[in-house]
Amino acid sequence: MRFEDLKLIDPLLKAIKDRKYTEPTAIQGKAIPVILQRRDVMGVAQTGTGKTAAFSIPIIQLIHQIESKTKGKPTMRALILTPTRELAIQIEENIEAYSKYTVVKQAVIFGGVKQYSQVQALRKGVHVLVATPGRLLDLISQGIISLKTIKVFILDEADRMLDMGFINDIKKILPMLPKERQSLFFSATMPSNIVKLSRDILKNPEKIEVSPVSSTAETIQQYLYYTNRTTKKGLLTHILKDEEIDQVLVFSRTKRGADRIVKDLKRKRIESAAIHGDKAQNQRQKALKKFKAGEIRVLVATDIAARGIDIDKLRYVINYDVPNVAETYVHRIGRSGRAGEEGIAIALCEPEENEFVRDIEKLIKQKIQVIKDHPYPQTEKPMTEKEKKEWNKEKQRRKQEFFANRKKNSSGGGYGRGGRRR
Ligand code: AMP
Repeated sequence: MRFEDLKLIDPLLKAIKDRKYTEPTAIQGKAIPVILQRRDVMGVAQTGTGKTAAFSIPIIQLIHQIESKTKGKPTMRALILTPTRELAIQIEENIEAYSKYTVVKQAVIFGGVKQYSQVQALRKGVHVLVATPGRLLDLISQGIISLKTIKVFILDEADRMLDMGFINDIKKILPMLPKERQSLFFSATMPSNIVKLSRDILKNPEKIEVSPVSSTAETIQQYLYYTNRTTKKGLLTHILKDEEIDQVLVFSRTKRGADRIVKDLKRKRIESAAIHGDKAQNQRQKALKKFKAGEIRVLVATDIAARGIDIDKLRYVINYDVPNVAETYVHRIGRSGRAGEEGIAIALCEPEENEFVRDIEKLIKQKIQVIKDHPYPQTEKPMTEKEKKEWNKEKQRRKQEFFANRKKNSSGGGYGRGGRRR
């Protein structure tokens, strides 16, 4: 299929050509004609499938066809709700690129930064608004935004929205939208709470599904290294000795873990940066920009922060830990081998995570190739239930000791040694 077969107007075809896309991805081929017919869509698709363009291109066309005939300040016609700041920025950048030969104007709003410049952009008038829920509600309550003129509503990454606790925000936003509207709903997974939410939003939708979450892209080669918890950092450095790995996204389950990886790599003189929820917005943007520009080799991210990262041709993903939720593994490795590119995903597994590998292999219905020939093999056994309990108690004790020390130090001055934590 070609983009020319999708009844797209010339200004869009030209912008797509500028992006050097040769043909529509599966979701684009299916969704674009349906959205152009103004039908509701329930899209089951992960990032990496080209879903942003799948909804952006047709809404730009619908808006351009109406708004190019009107004069004056743009009226808000489309609202795209998305869970993270990174994702919001990337969607806006995509829309900016696709709409450059049309009349369509867009803006993006998200929390964690001052609202001034966002409000300035809105005052000039926009057709498409990309927003995270909190900042949107905030600006609505200040009377800066009204949703009364919206014709198309897009809820992106619905499953992640609910994971992040945005359900109440969404429930507040929905009644503010006009009843007569087109709605597009995208989610990587479809558990029952998501299906329920979609029913509140969509009318007679066309269901479009591409590569369900249990299937991993065929173009991704997966490898597994069994090791111990204490030898993971040595193993990571060992793997990064391979110069073929020019750029890699490393996943960490926790924010603190991500910072620790960066610190360890720094000692080994490997340039890296971490992005996670505790980092300020500008720090995250700076890290991402440097990574995209090839100035840093390793980007370490938590699952939520990584959700919005859009990096073309990312070949390597390393799971520093094996996630305990098998779907998370599928999402993570989906960051490599994007849009038909070949990818390589490596997982480092400590004894406590051995059982998670079994869950993952069950979900993806394939065995992950184990790399045995490396200097840090797994020699320890997973803890027994009794040992786990004792270890948790010990962790708790160290935590209390750490906070007690901190309190003592902050009241009495001087720096004592904090308890060591896992
Ligand atoms: P998304 O799933 O929207 O995050 O898009 C994944 C990546 O695929 C982005 O880097 C897009 O720029 C890219 N992309 C989107 N559509 C196409 C296409 N038709 N051909 C090649 N790359 C594409």
